[in-house]
Amino acid sequence: MSLLVVGSVAFDALETPFGKVDRTLGGAASYFALAASYFTPVRVVAIVGDDFTDKQRAIFKGRKIDLTGLEQVPGKSFFWAGRYSQNMNERTTLATELNVFADFRPALPEPYRDSSFIFLGNIDPTLQSSVLTQVRRKPQLVGLDTMNYWIDRTPTELQETLKHTQILMINDDETRQLTGEHNLLRAAKHVFKMGPRTLVIKRGEHGALMVHHKFMFSVPAFPLEEVRDPTGAGDAFAGGFMGYLAAVRRVNEQSLRAAMVYGSVLGSFTVERFGVERLAKLKRSEITARAKLFSKLTSFKL
Ligand code: AMP
Repeated sequence: MSLLVVGSVAFDALETPFGKVDRTLGGAASYFALAASYFTPVRVVAIVGDDFTDKQRAIFKGRKIDLTGLEQVPGKSFFWAGRYSQNMNERTTLATELNVFADFRPALPEPYRDSSFIFLGNIDPTLQSSVLTQVRRKPQLVGLDTMNYWIDRTPTELQETLKHTQILMINDDETRQLTGEHNLLRAAKHVFKMGPRTLVIKRGEHGALMVHHKFMFSVPAFPLEEVRDPTGAGDAFAGGFMGYLAAVRRVNEQSLRAAMVYGSVLGSFTVERFGVERLAKLKRSEITARAKLFSKLTSFKL
């Protein structure tokens, strides 16, 4: 089952205690698409400038990633620069240059309009909604990511988009900011009133928590000896999560629990190297092996 993602495709400059890269492929939709493509075909809706060349396209090539919806216009692609603290728990944004992204109006190519699994990456909620109005039938599953900027500046538009969203995937700060509730379980109850029936809270090195009306599920972050660059872990998590669900075409308690594990697996591979380096070159067998390790890591008898 094809999965559609809308979001940023960018160039990133990254600085962590383990090194520095000046200009590497980034953007939430890039991480998401690469992660999800290990499970299901992915359709990308995004915009880039004429600095996006065959070198970047080659990273997606050979994977089940359709770039027909990747609009290319004159100008520079979105550019983001970030630096991580010594313990990598804090990140400072050094630059956000929207460039061609400032005039992005997502347009779905005709064959994309039958998509029934959709992920609305972190962009203006009005643009997220415009994607949903372009699909022909009500999708089976809509997931959404957002950030403090949109929660602050466009709360009404965000609330409108959330009415059409089943799974909200954000971090703990964003959850608290969106709901005005510090306690995450109480915050989830607020979220349920806004539309989504499932809240997935991404908690970085503390893993992820899923709260659904009827059950809860928690996964740790996979313990790693080498964490070089946390960029994109949340987007790769979302890609693994949504990609798995689109592949099994079933959204129930069992598949949602497994999706959490696959999300965590893809996030864990991503942080082992800079940018998309590790994520772009995985084998399906490595993913399965790590998912099994997750099962061992968390299994116990009472
Ligand atoms: P994450 O580490 O999951 O927060 O995602 C990092 C990615 O998000 C980077 O590759 C950036 O290019 C991209 N990014 C950063 N800021 C924004 C923004 N305001 N809108 C869209 N994408 C962004």
